[in-house]
Amino acid sequence: MTATEILAPKPMMPLIMEGLKATGHLHCLWEMPDPEAFIKENAAKIGAIATGGHIKVDGAYMSQFPNLKIVANFGVGYDTVDANWAGQHGITVTNTPDVLTEEVADTALGLLIMTMRELPQSERYLRAGHWAAKGPYPLTHNTLRGKTIGILALGRIGKAIATRCEAFGLKVVYHGRSEQTDVAYRYYPTLVGMAKDVDILMSVAPGGTSTFHTINADVLAALGSQGVLINIGRGSVVDEKALIQALHNKVIFSAGLDVFEDEPHVPTELIAMENVVLLPHVGSASHHTRNLMGQLVVDNILAYCAGKAPLTPVAETPFSGW
Ligand code: NAP
Repeated sequence: MTATEILAPKPMMPLIMEGLKATGHLHCLWEMPDPEAFIKENAAKIGAIATGGHIKVDGAYMSQFPNLKIVANFGVGYDTVDANWAGQHGITVTNTPDVLTEEVADTALGLLIMTMRELPQSERYLRAGHWAAKGPYPLTHNTLRGKTIGILALGRIGKAIATRCEAFGLKVVYHGRSEQTDVAYRYYPTLVGMAKDVDILMSVAPGGTSTFHTINADVLAALGSQGVLINIGRGSVVDEKALIQALHNKVIFSAGLDVFEDEPHVPTELIAMENVVLLPHVGSASHHTRNLMGQLVVDNILAYCAGKAPLTPVAETPFSGW
């Protein structure tokens, strides 16, 4: 049976909702008086799910829909969707790569400079009236001059960050699961080995079980007391408790974080610290880029509706027909 109906379990941006509503086949689960009863009655008709990472789309969730063919994820990271399970059950998962790469790399560089040069702290100093009352903001301990940055996960965004870092005069090295033959940056086979050698550790690693708490107490100890951690990838990659300890005990110097383990909840210990810069997961968050991402979600589902190949299937679910 070709399942023609589209399910949105949670609200998504207006561009997505309007694009999918235009098909005349969208069902918004949160608008249903009894969502469970709706799923029971209509499960076999659902062919597509649009999701934005607000719910876990795991095997148990997907198995409710016997004719499900596509899960279109808003975002390049799809750690809330069990893509391996989907691949084993003939379901295509799509994400939104490329269209956000440059925006996220820009944010990463912004966060890096904010953290190294204490720009949010100095701005707070001015706003509090301290400049006039107490004199200039103290000179910053850190600078980008003469520094080496180690990138964890040199993928699309990692490479865009590396290009920007080179333009800023930083030396770039990287660690990933394997060495890449088409890049000139030095490869480190171990993360601890790289952390020992760099001034800044920049994580762009995806979430999920394979990267869970990859940046742990050992890695932070290797980064050292002058070291700076920037995380623009996923919060689950960093052991947040170990990070708080490391910042508290001056095991590392400072951190800049766009992502957290339990978003939108940020540990009060981090909020209380002066030597961290905290952003509310804004890596791709401009109208320009979010619209491009949203359109890709719509276009992947429209491709399914038209019997065409999806635009951006993830590696775990290569497309082989609907
Ligand atoms: P990508 O091109 O797929 O790159 C991901 C990189 O991660 C690959 O180079 C891969 O390299 C590496 N990797 C995967 N598993 C790994 C592991 N277990 N250990 C070490 N490295 C691993 O993805 P992208 O477009 O650059 O996006 C990367 C991530 O950025 C996304 O998954 C998302 O979580 C995050 N992101 C954050 C924001 C934000 O707003 N902060 C926005 C967009 C994306 P190897 O295969 O060589 O290991």
